Amino acid sequence: MQLPNGLTALVDYHVHTARCGHAVGAMEAYVEKAIEAGLKELGFSDHLYLYWLPEGDRDPELGMAEWELDFYVEDVERCRARYATDVTIRLSTEADFIPGHEQTLERVLARYDWDYVLGSVHFVDGWGLDQSRYLDGYERWDVNALYARYFDLMGQAAETRFFDTMGHIDLVKKFGHRPTLDQAENHRTLAERFARAGVCVEVNTAGLRKPVAETYPHPDLLRACHQAGVPVTFGSDAHAPEQVALDFATAARLMRAAGYADYLAYRGRNRSPHPLPPD
Ligand code: ZN
Ligand code: FE
Ligand code: FE
Ligand code: ZN
Repeated sequence: MQLPNGLTALVDYHVHTARCGHAVGAMEAYVEKAIEAGLKELGFSDHLYLYWLPEGDRDPELGMAEWELDFYVEDVERCRARYATDVTIRLSTEADFIPGHEQTLERVLARYDWDYVLGSVHFVDGWGLDQSRYLDGYERWDVNALYARYFDLMGQAAETRFFDTMGHIDLVKKFGHRPTLDQAENHRTLAERFARAGVCVEVNTAGLRKPVAETYPHPDLLRACHQAGVPVTFGSDAHAPEQVALDFATAARLMRAAGYADYLAYRGRNRSPHPLPPD
């Protein structure tokens, strides 16, 4: 299915592969979906291995195995060559920020020529907060305190400068847990930390498919990012080929409503702005 008129020539910078243990489909099928949707760029950003854990403790359903990383990079490069005339393929990885393990991550990331690195927080004190099997973890938290902690971890992640763009920056809302306190101050603080760190944020459409049923970030947080001067890009967080570029019309509309006129593309960790399609 084509994207609506004017929505072609966008980028999808958050795409997984079967290597992470919880996505399906051949990489070629993701690329072919991107071409069909009229994207100009697809960035593979599969889950890095759980580098902060001893090898025997890494859940094979949450990230690729360490030995797979070279093969993943080779596969992306193979797709890049094979589809070069139809779509530009970018090399990325979605890497977790885990406080105290910065040196390990820095070493892993230094081994490859990424086009951009996507930084995410899926774990708070070792708890995988986006896993439905660990949903009981929400009962151990005051939801306001959890939001504050989550946003602080996102800010810390950006400040490492390891990441070009930040993934689903309010993932903490995934299952519909809502803070009771007004978040305006927390949003402004986080957006200003992002701006100082020079990172981009993605408008991630996967949230529309989750219990929360809205994109990441919330429109208020997206507006705060715009006001702070933080740029944006697109991510579907596809874990199946048919999810590539899904709901990008909605994402573009939310970006425009927040005040954005363009989005960023990356190559070799250099960014360039591109105009958003008209409404
Ligand atoms: Zn995933
Ligand atoms: Fe993620
Ligand atoms: Fe992802
Ligand atoms: Zn993700």
